[in-house]
Amino acid sequence: MPGPLDGPIELARLVPAGELEELLDAVRRAVGAELAIYDRRGALLAGSEAAGAPCRDVEHDGEPLAKLASTSPAALDLGERMLGLLVHHANARELAATTHEAAMRLTFAELTEQNLRLQRAVARLEELDRLKSNFLATMSHELRTPLTSVIGYAEMLAEGLAGPIAPEQRDYLATILNKADQLLGMITSVLDVASVESGVPPLERASLSLTDIVASEVAMFTATARKREIAIQLETRGDTIVVGDRKKIRQIVSSLLSNAVKFTPDRGKVGVCVRPGPLSPVIHDNGDGRAIQLVVSDSGIGISRDAVAKIFEPFFQVDSSSTRAFGGTGLGLTLAKAYVEAHGGRIWVDTTPGQGSTFVATFPARPAFDDQGGA
Ligand code: ADP
Repeated sequence: MPGPLDGPIELARLVPAGELEELLDAVRRAVGAELAIYDRRGALLAGSEAAGAPCRDVEHDGEPLAKLASTSPAALDLGERMLGLLVHHANARELAATTHEAAMRLTFAELTEQNLRLQRAVARLEELDRLKSNFLATMSHELRTPLTSVIGYAEMLAEGLAGPIAPEQRDYLATILNKADQLLGMITSVLDVASVESGVPPLERASLSLTDIVASEVAMFTATARKREIAIQLETRGDTIVVGDRKKIRQIVSSLLSNAVKFTPDRGKVGVCVRPGPLSPVIHDNGDGRAIQLVVSDSGIGISRDAVAKIFEPFFQVDSSSTRAFGGTGLGLTLAKAYVEAHGGRIWVDTTPGQGSTFVATFPARPAFDDQGGA
């Protein structure tokens, strides 16, 4: 469609018929005479043919625009001036509309282009993420195989299967086994995170007492805590039966407990409570939010507001310096979150730097499984 600036102006397209009729009315009222308006080719646009009436050619920017016919010269003069004004306004109107449309088109084209670039970047990131997960899975699998041999042979040596060993050799072997176990734990976590990143982890389903699981995990940490004079207090209230995967729930409890002990200074306090409560920090009153809560609180170093947003991300550690005192991989909370959510629960933390942290993990009292969850 030609724009207002391309070629001669078509009067019928530019000025609506109603406006031409109003022009004729105005002329009729002002000078008491009839006027007829034709386009530049002579087709009648407004008014009625008056055979033999004098005609006037009207131009716009040196191009023929219209013809006016009237027996009254005053009507021709007034009509020509008014038509000039109408065309001027209509032209300005069309110019504004076209400019607006062109601007919109440009913005749309820019947005489409930007969208395409973003889509390409997202596809590339997804591909990199997939490669990273594959790399982690393959690497940890390849590392685990020789490590299990190292552990196996060290155990055989320690048991004296290759001949008697001296007490000092036994100590060395104990250290080798201890460190190899630690390494195996880290490699297994990396493997678990890689598998969690590739989809919701498959779960076993069984009715379990959360209190029993928590009590046995607390017992595992008691010796370490006692050495540093940290008291672990366990409290349990009401019915604490959940339906879920024993191994994964144990891993959740163990991560939270190990962090609480690890990040609490000597002579500090760790409290563990299992109790019924809401599923998420937002309280539901319609009953859908009924859950069993595992609350692990400590009087430790706490976590800054900036770091809280990231602690559930893989490999994130608040203090990642090489002189870091605490050890660990930064994977415990990532796995805990993935496993809690796979059970239909939530995990969150309330923390104050320098005062301590309270982690809450919840498990639905009525399990949110479908029937494909496994045995
Ligand atoms: P890590 O193996 O380092 O413990 P996690 O994923 O379990 O990895 O935790 C990530 C980070 O979150 C930790 O390195 C630590 O900085 C912070 N964090 C977790 N639990 C606590 C806690 N109870 N008190 C203070 N900081 C914590």
